[in-house]
Amino acid sequence: MRLFVPYTDEREIEEVARVLATGYLTQGPKVAEFEGMIARLIGSRYAFAMSSCTTALHLALVALGIGPGDEVLVPDFTFPATANVVVQQGARPVLVDVRTDTYNLDLGDLESRYTSRVRAVIPVHAFGLSADMEPLMGFARRHGLAVLEDAACALGATYRGRFCGTIGDLGCFSFHPRKSITTGEGGMIVTGDEALAGRIRLLRSHGGVRPEGAAYFEFEAAGFNYRLSDLQAAVGVAQMGKFAWVLERKRELARQLTGLLRTVKGVTPPVEPDGYMHTYQSYVVMLDEAVDRDTVIAAMRRRDVETTLGTYALHAQPFFRRTYGYAAGDLPASYGVFRHSLTLPLYAQMEADDPERVVEALESAITEVAG
Ligand SMILES: *Cc1c(COP(=O)(O)O)cnc(C)c1O
Repeated sequence: MRLFVPYTDEREIEEVARVLATGYLTQGPKVAEFEGMIARLIGSRYAFAMSSCTTALHLALVALGIGPGDEVLVPDFTFPATANVVVQQGARPVLVDVRTDTYNLDLGDLESRYTSRVRAVIPVHAFGLSADMEPLMGFARRHGLAVLEDAACALGATYRGRFCGTIGDLGCFSFHPRKSITTGEGGMIVTGDEALAGRIRLLRSHGGVRPEGAAYFEFEAAGFNYRLSDLQAAVGVAQMGKFAWVLERKRELARQLTGLLRTVKGVTPPVEPDGYMHTYQSYVVMLDEAVDRDTVIAAMRRRDVETTLGTYALHAQPFFRRTYGYAAGDLPASYGVFRHSLTLPLYAQMEADDPERVVEALESAITEVAG
């Protein structure tokens, strides 16, 4: 059983074929259609399709004016892109420890790492569960910090009735094939701020503007080419037609997994606190310290079930150790979830008896590894 399989069918092929037939392949009307679908879904004023979530996060930091001398607070337990974009701007990512139950930012640790050089915070909604945004926004407002949500895994997730990505100043989504919907590669920045939207629009495409009625561009800034193509947006439009079903199906399968795991010793299932709606981009469990996670991954593979780690503790990665002097374990909660978390298979097209197969395999793998 695969860890994840994106759900594509003839609808994506038809949408792509239609774009090919127009001969207009780069950013155009399909991108605008896809942006409109995302903006309407989450109630965002502006939405800008980008070549990936990583380029979206980078351009968001550029639009905020983050640069050398600045510090940005970033959770330690995340995919490295969240912090890499800060480094690319010549700023310093200040890594913050996470909670072991939600895998999200630990608010106490966040406050303790504040310095007068901090300009922004990038909360990650780990695996599709919102960070605790209310106290986080309070902290950010008290210190005048910008809030950039890394909502790569959280399209459709909500926090106290509000959609992830629309709570901070800016939000970024990913359409990598491992996320809930995909465009092959792709991302999106959403914001309600007109000034930020203007800078993003300009910088996404070379810094060029075409004055009213003019035949060609004028270049106002040294911009990027971070555009999504209409070919990719066509896949996105077809994917959006399935999104509500995919999300509901994954949530139902996640409920089944959590129910079945209640009786399995040595495993803690993911939580969905009251007031939160989890997308389960990944279904991540914690294994007891006595159970070696990597041996469990190998034992699961022998049972024909693909699993992987949750995600990375950045401070323990060679680049961050070398550059900022961290030692593995300096952020203890993040290091613990890095070493003991396990992602189980979860995708919309799973068969009805697959959750049972996964949990039976896990129970027997743990017994083998522990015994
Ligand atoms: C997937 C992911 C990214 C990167 O997304 P891309 O679209 O692959 O660039 C960034 N942050 C988090 C939390 C992710 O899960």
